Amino acid sequence: MSMETTLRKSVSDDAQEVYRAIALIELGARMQLLETELTLSRDRMIRLYRELKGMPPPKGMLPFSADWYMTWMPNIHSSLFYNIYLFLKEQTRCSRLDALTKAYRLYVEHCGQNRLEVVLSLTRAWTLVRFFEADMLQQTPCCRCKGKFVAHRHDLQAHFVCGACQPPSRAGRTKKAASSKAECGSLAA
Ligand SMILES: [Zn+2]
Repeated sequence: MSMETTLRKSVSDDAQEVYRAIALIELGARMQLLETELTLSRDRMIRLYRELKGMPPPKGMLPFSADWYMTWMPNIHSSLFYNIYLFLKEQTRCSRLDALTKAYRLYVEHCGQNRLEVVLSLTRAWTLVRFFEADMLQQTPCCRCKGKFVAHRHDLQAHFVCGACQPPSRAGRTKKAASSKAECGSLAA
């Protein structure tokens, strides 16, 4: 490879990384995500963050509990996101990080179109993917709707009924149950 080609490649790689950082910051990425996933220097990412958000990046711990994904509404949203993510990762040739970005954007669009609250933040979505990569989670099919839902790694698979097919009684409002049912339908493989 000639010197010129090497240079040109690294400049375009750098531009790609900046482009990825911008997309992630706009979707709500925190510094921990950017620092883990991108090769840009911390200073540049902080500058980018300030420029795009008009404020310094927030400090503080990220959420770190797999149990959050098991609660009723978060489980439906996480499962929806993860199905989109897996589809993009397996069916298109995009990288894991691009699949995350694109899947999250599609998830937010889906919520907007269906007037649903965006329950899953980008940080939670990223953490979800990392929990799957660490084999802490698995997908369990619902025996009624056949959708695949996020579950703990060693949870029993048989006779599982998802939170959309069987909402908890406190969530008994008809409209909410109907909308989660519709979402659940889109999870069936
Ligand atoms: Zn179900």
